[in-house]
Amino acid sequence: MSSAERYRALRGVQDILPPEIFIWQKVEEVAKDVFSAYGFQEIRPPIIEVTDIFTRSIGENTDIVEKEMYTFSDKAGRSITLRPEGTAPFVRCYVQNCLYNLPSPQKFFYSGPMFRYERPQKGRFRQFYHIGVEALGISDPKIDAEILSMLRFLLERLGLEGLTFEVNSIGCEKCRPDYRKALLNFFSGRINGFCPDCKRRYELNPLRILDCKVKECIKLRVGSPRVTDFLCKDCREHFDALLSLLRLLDFPYVINPDMVRGLDYYTRTTFEVTSKQLGAQNAVAAGGRYDRLVEEFGGPPTPAIGFAIGIERIVELLKSSDKLEILAPKVFIATIGASAEKEGLLIANKLRERGIWVEISYAAHSLRSQLRRADRLSAKYVLIMGDDEVSSRKLKWKRLSDGTQGEIAIDKVLEFFNK
Ligand SMILES: [Zn+2]
Ligand SMILES: [Zn+2]
Repeated sequence: MSSAERYRALRGVQDILPPEIFIWQKVEEVAKDVFSAYGFQEIRPPIIEVTDIFTRSIGENTDIVEKEMYTFSDKAGRSITLRPEGTAPFVRCYVQNCLYNLPSPQKFFYSGPMFRYERPQKGRFRQFYHIGVEALGISDPKIDAEILSMLRFLLERLGLEGLTFEVNSIGCEKCRPDYRKALLNFFSGRINGFCPDCKRRYELNPLRILDCKVKECIKLRVGSPRVTDFLCKDCREHFDALLSLLRLLDFPYVINPDMVRGLDYYTRTTFEVTSKQLGAQNAVAAGGRYDRLVEEFGGPPTPAIGFAIGIERIVELLKSSDKLEILAPKVFIATIGASAEKEGLLIANKLRERGIWVEISYAAHSLRSQLRRADRLSAKYVLIMGDDEVSSRKLKWKRLSDGTQGEIAIDKVLEFFNK
């Protein structure tokens, strides 16, 4: 086996390269822009945490914790997990740094890699990227509506179309027990047909049966009680108020009473954005309320809501929808002779200080080969300079797209390219 064959990336992870990286950068830039307009500030929590942070909050009997976590023992024998999602570590960070002391709502966003140790398949990676936002301190559905509007605005700014916004309410700790009882009743006659996981879930966490992807289980739960029929008065009012705000904002929502989300920490509002253009893994963003989680991490009672966007899925959609913008240098400086080379370097420096992408020749190549390189780089303009041009303080310029050319004084170059 050669070295090149031996040193390969791990299964389920990928290198992100140009030109695709330009779409990633665009997504990140637009997101930052939109979040700032709504007052969200960036935080950067670490990617590793002690495993308990996830098992306690996401729930021991969820798919993520049971099957998908990237967990290992470190040298001191501690159980460490590469974060499978951003909210649990965020709440750890929020409580540890007493961010609840800031005026509410406290609004944050983060982005970076998440990890799941599951079988890699199309649309699923072991290392994948999320952009997440969290807003804390407000239980009023106005903030739910604001978060959803922000998400919609962001996806629209990115030029995505054909998205479905599904919303639901999954109740609170007051109404959840009634729903749980109804589920147990409904499932009790069918338990023998369930997969081993669901049999266990029946005892421990019947809500999670609704997430099971096994065909038999999907069949057996057809017609199961809907969580929205069991909402307590407060949850009902909260949900109704959210829906009327969404109508006021002309927000195109669809109620999906079957959407329970695969994590235990959610309360009340949950939502998911899906695209028909993606295959089985069709969610591009998802989120919801987690009004109890801050308290469970030892903080004061703090209502909260957030969402995460899957960057790979967004990039997939953008790749198929618009042309890849190929970034290219604006200027290539071709020089002939030692004094022109020095002058060229000074001009390149000045333009680069202004943020203009300039390429130069690194060796005394012929003009022909320098022009060929400018062409391969798809440079927009070439500046050509020999000893004559240096002594007359004038340059030849050429626009490669249409062959237009002309002359320009050296001290006017900045002005010329700043336009
Ligand atoms: Zn309730
Ligand atoms: Zn099952």
